[in-house]
Amino acid sequence: MTIPQIDLKAQYRALKPEIDPAIAKIIENTAFIGGPPVADFEREFAAYCEAGAAVGAASGTAALHLALCESGIKPGEEVITVSQTFIATAEVARLCGATLKMVDIDPQTYCMNPEAFAAAISPRTRVVIPVDLYGHPADMDPILATAEAHGITAIEDAAQAHGARYHGRRAGSLAPLATFSFYPGKNLGAYGDAGAVTVADPAAGERIAQLANHGRAEKYEHHVEGFNYRLDALQAVVLSVKLRHLDQWNAIRRQIAARYRELLTDVPEVTLPQAAEGVEHVYHLFVIQVPDRDRIAATLRERGVMVQLHYPIPLHLQQAYAHLNMPRGSLPVTEQIADHCISLPVFPEMTAEQIGYVVTTLKDALAKVAP
Ligand SMILES: *Cc1c(COP(=O)(O)O)cnc(C)c1O
Repeated sequence: MTIPQIDLKAQYRALKPEIDPAIAKIIENTAFIGGPPVADFEREFAAYCEAGAAVGAASGTAALHLALCESGIKPGEEVITVSQTFIATAEVARLCGATLKMVDIDPQTYCMNPEAFAAAISPRTRVVIPVDLYGHPADMDPILATAEAHGITAIEDAAQAHGARYHGRRAGSLAPLATFSFYPGKNLGAYGDAGAVTVADPAAGERIAQLANHGRAEKYEHHVEGFNYRLDALQAVVLSVKLRHLDQWNAIRRQIAARYRELLTDVPEVTLPQAAEGVEHVYHLFVIQVPDRDRIAATLRERGVMVQLHYPIPLHLQQAYAHLNMPRGSLPVTEQIADHCISLPVFPEMTAEQIGYVVTTLKDALAKVAP
């Protein structure tokens, strides 16, 4: 048996009758850029996120760059974020001439530790970017309270948490600015690169939409210099179709997580993911910690369970961030997770048999490497 980390082919087979005509209609109309499909998706996604507005973007990375521009950060000012994330979260700081500071995460939720953020603030800090990691929203209430007290703008990187809730509020509405990726493997994924910024204040949405479209106010009028960071119409219709299924898919992801939890609860070597109180996790990933991770992961793969690691080298230990001068030992909780994490397969089309096979194989692998 081979079990992929996610199965996009199975998803497409189920969606084909909805997706194919929607795509064909765009191609027949040859209206590939902007227009009603993009505006429709932006409206639907803003409503879904319970946000003031949503602006489509070319990718999650473009969305992060747009949100950072909207924050008004200036060269020499500082962004605080986490090290246990995908590099895009941090990468965009340099595009605004800003410097980076990386802080540790909470050992239960794997999201930014609010106290570590508070302790890291300097007079130059202008922006904080907490990440809703693996589908678990960051602990935004204390982070926002600290940020507001210091005049710092919070940007929620919700790229892994479409549909998650934090004390009743949806991911994407937890901070004044939030960003999403619709990379194909995300809980809501396009058929190519795509992303979005969600905002509390619709006026901010208008500024961001202008920036994403060459600073254009009218066809021939450019108020500011911007970018070509637009969401295209083909991606927008795919996303509109898939958005209608997202809540159901997330519910199945939660059922799979509950099943894993049940089957692994009496395995002492395995540290299971936890959801904080008041949080509705959407399990973009089901990340466990095990001893002797590399050998366990290799054994799982040999037996067809195609696990991945998120993320084995945290950003502060990447060559790209050598200039931050953060040697091993700088962020102990982050490093502990990086050294021990394995992402078990989780996708809405997963069968009970597949879940059982993953668990049996994992237990065998653990027995094999036991001292
Ligand atoms: C996927 C992801 C991004 C980047 O999104 P792209 O669409 O690939 O540019 C940013 N942040 C996090 C946390 C992600 O997982």
